[in-house]
Amino acid sequence: MTSGAEALAEVAARIAPYIRDVQDYPTPGILFKDITPLLADADAFATTVVALSEPFEALGHVDIVVGIEARGFILAAPVAHHLHAGFVPVRKAGKLPGATYDESYTLEYGTAVIQLHKDAFAAGARVLIVDDVLATGGTAAATARLIERAGATVAGVAVLLELSFLGGRETLKGVPTHALLTF
Ligand code: AMP
Repeated sequence: MTSGAEALAEVAARIAPYIRDVQDYPTPGILFKDITPLLADADAFATTVVALSEPFEALGHVDIVVGIEARGFILAAPVAHHLHAGFVPVRKAGKLPGATYDESYTLEYGTAVIQLHKDAFAAGARVLIVDDVLATGGTAAATARLIERAGATVAGVAVLLELSFLGGRETLKGVPTHALLTF
């Protein structure tokens, strides 16, 4: 039988070659993890979507998958489909047409404001956050605050890639957090 750790190692080995490191992008000193080669490969993309979803199938039904603009959308929508859940966008300031909750946060490279529609969820909905990279955790933690302000519960965070040396997981204490690749 394959253990969870072995299965994850297998997934990591299959998808790691499709992550491209871009030095000094978007600013000097940042090693940018480019996921576009992975998205362009049918097998690597499908493996990623299933592996992001699987840990949360065992943790109770997910009602909604939240994707964070912009790369998070690309992964969150197929994960929502795989989990038979709805999809809700968290967007950068000024992009959502309805009344919003707003949260500001610090990025690995800058600061930003993200927004969520106030009426995005039914009361008590269980929500999974999906993004491409967990770096400092500022984005995911701000998203979790938005979800809670909108009356829902954060069921977990699933990311393709975690930059563990930046300590993002520490900002998500108590939230089941799952990464396919850890650097
Ligand atoms: P953070 O809030 O610091 O956890 O940053 C996470 C967000 O910034 C994610 O939405 C990523 O898309 C992006 N991000 C941060 N650092 C990187 C990186 N080194 N490579 C690619 N994307 C990154």
